[in-house]
Amino acid sequence: MNTMAVRAVGVGGMASLSRFKGALVGAVLGDCVGGEFEGAEEVPMENVLRHLNGLDDETKGDGTLEYSDDTAMARCVVQSLLTRAGFDEQDMARRFAKEYSLAPGRGYGSGVIQVLKKLSSSQLSDVYQPARDQFNGRGSFGNGGAMRVAPFALAFPDLSDVKKYSRSGAMLTHSCSLGYNGAVLQALAVHLSLQGALELPAQFLDKLISEMEEVEDEEASRNDARALKEAEKPFCERLYRLRDLMDRSKVSIEEVICELGNGIAALHSVPTAIFCVLHCLQPRESLPPHYGGLERTMAYSLALGGDTDTIACMAGAIAGAHYGIEVIPEAWMKCCEGAKEAEVTAQRLHALYHQRAQGGASAPGRGGGLGGEAPATGDEPL
Ligand SMILES: [Mg+2]
Repeated sequence: MNTMAVRAVGVGGMASLSRFKGALVGAVLGDCVGGEFEGAEEVPMENVLRHLNGLDDETKGDGTLEYSDDTAMARCVVQSLLTRAGFDEQDMARRFAKEYSLAPGRGYGSGVIQVLKKLSSSQLSDVYQPARDQFNGRGSFGNGGAMRVAPFALAFPDLSDVKKYSRSGAMLTHSCSLGYNGAVLQALAVHLSLQGALELPAQFLDKLISEMEEVEDEEASRNDARALKEAEKPFCERLYRLRDLMDRSKVSIEEVICELGNGIAALHSVPTAIFCVLHCLQPRESLPPHYGGLERTMAYSLALGGDTDTIACMAGAIAGAHYGIEVIPEAWMKCCEGAKEAEVTAQRLHALYHQRAQGGASAPGRGGGLGGEAPATGDEPL
């Protein structure tokens, strides 16, 4: 593979504000622009490009492309992490439930709706129980934990914290390891991208593999993989496939879908999103030469079809953390509901992250420190 990385222009150093904004806004954009093709089996690239070109239409109003459950839940994660200055599962669960009750029409899956309804009960003593009860006690392995996980990478500078809390956050709705480990993988990808690790793509992938080797070594993960007749370490196996695809000089959309998938299972979408980012670090024949890396990543993610909003959302977070906010077209920002808000909240996460990095953040759950201006009422503006 060509390890000559594309230079990220104006993105600043490791964990710069530009990268934080890029990650959070990139996720929102992916969700909003990806909604158009969600569930489509085949998406010709010309349709994708027509859709993206349409975003430049000045006559359209602000926020015409609405965000879906991906962003709705990610906003809850952000609000909770900021308000509690760390991870507080009770608070986060309450916010998910409240968000769903206020705006149930954001495209939630039927499985997660049952969990969210149970989470709204004031009688509930263990907020992880509703997710555990799903699917006869097996739990969900969908990508719903991964789609909303980026803010964890933006709140915790320490890699072991990112792993620990992204896992716990996902387990509020996805208790199968093939669900929550997907969230851990996505959070790790955003974390590494924030550090500038995509400058060296091969090493970036090596690091993800070595981390996931450890994550998937846990007994629960091994048991789930066995029960579902997957490889011993399913995410690692997919990352090895991903590496093979990167080594090929030419790879078709069909091959990517066949090897990595484009579905709603975390296993069939998180490695796919990571592939989209890596594949689009360089200019590609099928994509307009004037496109930058972030635009290429978006277009390519949509052209895969399937769960396009979530795949583009996850790819958008990783790519945005790499390229920074400066490369995001202003017209795209304007069209997408929640993009401007994400730019503002990214700044608060950036402050929390750096406060933690300097050892200054208060313990999770105490609600003090940055962003901890109010108890968790769930209705503070962002
Ligand atoms: Mg969605």
